[in-house]
Amino acid sequence: MRDVCKSYAAELERLKESGSLRILPQGQHSGKWIVSGGRWMLNLSSNDYLGLAADNRLREEFMQLPYMTSLPFSSSSSRLLTGNFDIYNTLEEKLAAMYGRESALVLSSGYHMNSGILPALCDRDTLILADKLVHASLIDGIRLCEGRCIRFRHQDYDQVENILVKEAAAYGRIFIVTESIFSMDGDLAPLHRLVELKRKWPSVMLYVDEAHAVGVRGENGLGLAEECGCIGDIDLLCGTFGKALASVGAYVICDRVIREYLVNKMRTLIFTTALPPVNVAWSLFIMERLPQFRERREHLARISSMLREAFAMQGLLMPSESHIIPMITGSSADAVLRAEEMQRKGFYVLPIRPPTVPEGTSRLRFSLTAALDSSDIERLTDKNGR
Ligand SMILES: *Cc1c(COP(=O)(O)O)cnc(C)c1O
Repeated sequence: MRDVCKSYAAELERLKESGSLRILPQGQHSGKWIVSGGRWMLNLSSNDYLGLAADNRLREEFMQLPYMTSLPFSSSSSRLLTGNFDIYNTLEEKLAAMYGRESALVLSSGYHMNSGILPALCDRDTLILADKLVHASLIDGIRLCEGRCIRFRHQDYDQVENILVKEAAAYGRIFIVTESIFSMDGDLAPLHRLVELKRKWPSVMLYVDEAHAVGVRGENGLGLAEECGCIGDIDLLCGTFGKALASVGAYVICDRVIREYLVNKMRTLIFTTALPPVNVAWSLFIMERLPQFRERREHLARISSMLREAFAMQGLLMPSESHIIPMITGSSADAVLRAEEMQRKGFYVLPIRPPTVPEGTSRLRFSLTAALDSSDIERLTDKNGR
């Protein structure tokens, strides 16, 4: 090993000792199953919340579309240059119409979206108030911002209000940044409360990341804002295609002026190759069918409440109100051991450790999909070793 690399090796050794070493897991997919090391396990770590990615019939239907064979596998350029194929505009118009808003902007991934929007929209006169538990992509966006950021205690909107009372007058614009379903606890942000804050302080803009809620929540699968009836109140309503929507990319629903501003200023849009048209067409194909997946959403809601109730009966702390259900164990080492035990029993669950979650709250994270049935949940709760 080169001398300059020795400190990296030492750090890896330290991670290993504390049970925090990360590796890239291997595994083949087969519907709701994942096969790893010769073992068939129920996949309880997938973000394919509606089971659409595992649905071969849907895939075949798409592959047989007449225009399918002419869709390029690369856009070969940024959207600002020659990468802005018609299919992008079609998808954005569809999104804006479904949400009943002025405009939508499609981005390469949720990571591009969240690391790009705030740096584009913030200046020295901006204050960002972000929930302590927002996704790493949002944190990275905030790090690139001019201006000030305060991270408020998870879902503590009294604290937010106190900050607004003290600080709002000093700033031209304030962003309140949250997820709608939180990735690690599966709890829901009370969007109405945020909308009330916005009504009280006209300089407040709401930024809501619905990565885990699109597809899953709302009458038509548009997310928690649809369920709460406040789509029109969220200034930056963000969704991703990579999870329930079984594709890749992301989108922000916003006013036209914001979209135009982002097209001019957002570096993670301007300086990256646009998504391949074939993927954009698949996203459109899924969006067109999204309202039809209501049964899958209802089924997912049913099996999720089954699992939450079973865990709560075992006396586990249960913050979740969704299909993302943590089993909080505390130490990293314990989470790793329990995950291994689950996998031996045929349940593919992964340990989540710091820095992804706060120190002392390592956990197993069960992420349910509509591809599972209630007998799967029954087996899971019988056998989890408690
Ligand atoms: C997964 C996720 C992202 C990132 O989306 P990608 O499209 O996978 O880059 C952003 N925000 C949240 C809350 C997420 O869970």
